[in-house]
Amino acid sequence: MHSLTLTKEQLQKMIAHVNSHAPLEACGLLAGRGSKVETVLMVANQAQSPIRYVMDPIEQLSAFEWIDSNGLELIGIFHSHPTGPETVSPTDIVQAAYAVVYVILARVENSWRARGFWIEDGKYNEVGLQIL
Ligand SMILES: [Zn+2]
Repeated sequence: MHSLTLTKEQLQKMIAHVNSHAPLEACGLLAGRGSKVETVLMVANQAQSPIRYVMDPIEQLSAFEWIDSNGLELIGIFHSHPTGPETVSPTDIVQAAYAVVYVILARVENSWRARGFWIEDGKYNEVGLQIL
């Protein structure tokens, strides 16, 4: 995937979620069709850590079921880096288990920046985020 399209409201929803959990990392799922995000789903970070995230398995499963039952697909996974970096960490590469866009929200000088990445075979490439 070369780009991911989301609305300003969806981006603000993600930022509000990760900001309210900082300095801990926060995470969630992006459901949609093709490269267009339709819904942002929050999932609790079971790790309760400032440097890693583990999606709560029960919340993750119920989010997957919701996505299925609404005829959508999992197209992205987002999480925060409250103290940076703006790019994927070595842990993110090891943990990347889905063929989806990984959106990282990094806090840089008190504002949040979002970037998208495709992670495959231990490498990553930037995926443009189109904000409507
Ligand atoms: Zn990360």
